[in-house]
Amino acid sequence: MNLEKLIIAIDGPAGAGKSTVSMALAQRLGYRLIDTGAMYRALAWSVAQAGLPAEDGPALRRHLDSIEVTLDDDRVLINGRDVSGEIRTPVISALTSRLTMLAPIRAKVTPLQRRMATGGRVVLEGRDTGTVVCPGADVKFYLDASDEERARRRQAELAARGVTMALPAVLEEIRTRDVQDKTRALAPLRKADDAVAIDTTGLTAEQVVNRMMQEIEQRCCTRS
Ligand code: C5P
Repeated sequence: MNLEKLIIAIDGPAGAGKSTVSMALAQRLGYRLIDTGAMYRALAWSVAQAGLPAEDGPALRRHLDSIEVTLDDDRVLINGRDVSGEIRTPVISALTSRLTMLAPIRAKVTPLQRRMATGGRVVLEGRDTGTVVCPGADVKFYLDASDEERARRRQAELAARGVTMALPAVLEEIRTRDVQDKTRALAPLRKADDAVAIDTTGLTAEQVVNRMMQEIEQRCCTRS
């Protein structure tokens, strides 16, 4: 295994600490970060903008054919328009979780993500990156944390973006998303059999990244 060009997959539910940790890990390794959730959020944003219902149908399929979603570093674009700032709202979170159950939505994005991962030097972050997008990823992690801690993190994340939401409402939001993401028929959120599980409750992002680096370095040393 060559540390120079690994594919690293990080999955887990909302608020498990994936975004912060994935960014820090990618930086540490000098890898590209692929935020797969941002791509789905951008699609949801465009569906909302188009005023379409959140269900599979000819209108949704036509809409998907007419748009291009692109990741450019930490920006996500729809037909060249930067929508990164508009996709992190509770409304888009809820819509995204509903839309990502649909086959045409996943079929639009999964091949793009696979293509971006070709050649390695990538950290993929999402719900199905180690199970569906890159089942052959070199190192897989599954992050989780207690519901309360995940809600607190998510609340702080929203506050940083100027959105105030009471903790019980955040808890409700992430629990609803968890159920939808875990029980859908297509690419449900689950730990890949060969993923390393990390409970991030009570851990700092740095502690989690250190734990991941240990795992990565250990594998590169023992299996190269
Ligand atoms: O990670 P983030 O909270 O931005 O993801 C938003 C939503 O996108 C998730 O709740 C999930 O429904 C969906 N998603 C997905 N597959 C991924 C990444 C995200 O279905 N790989």
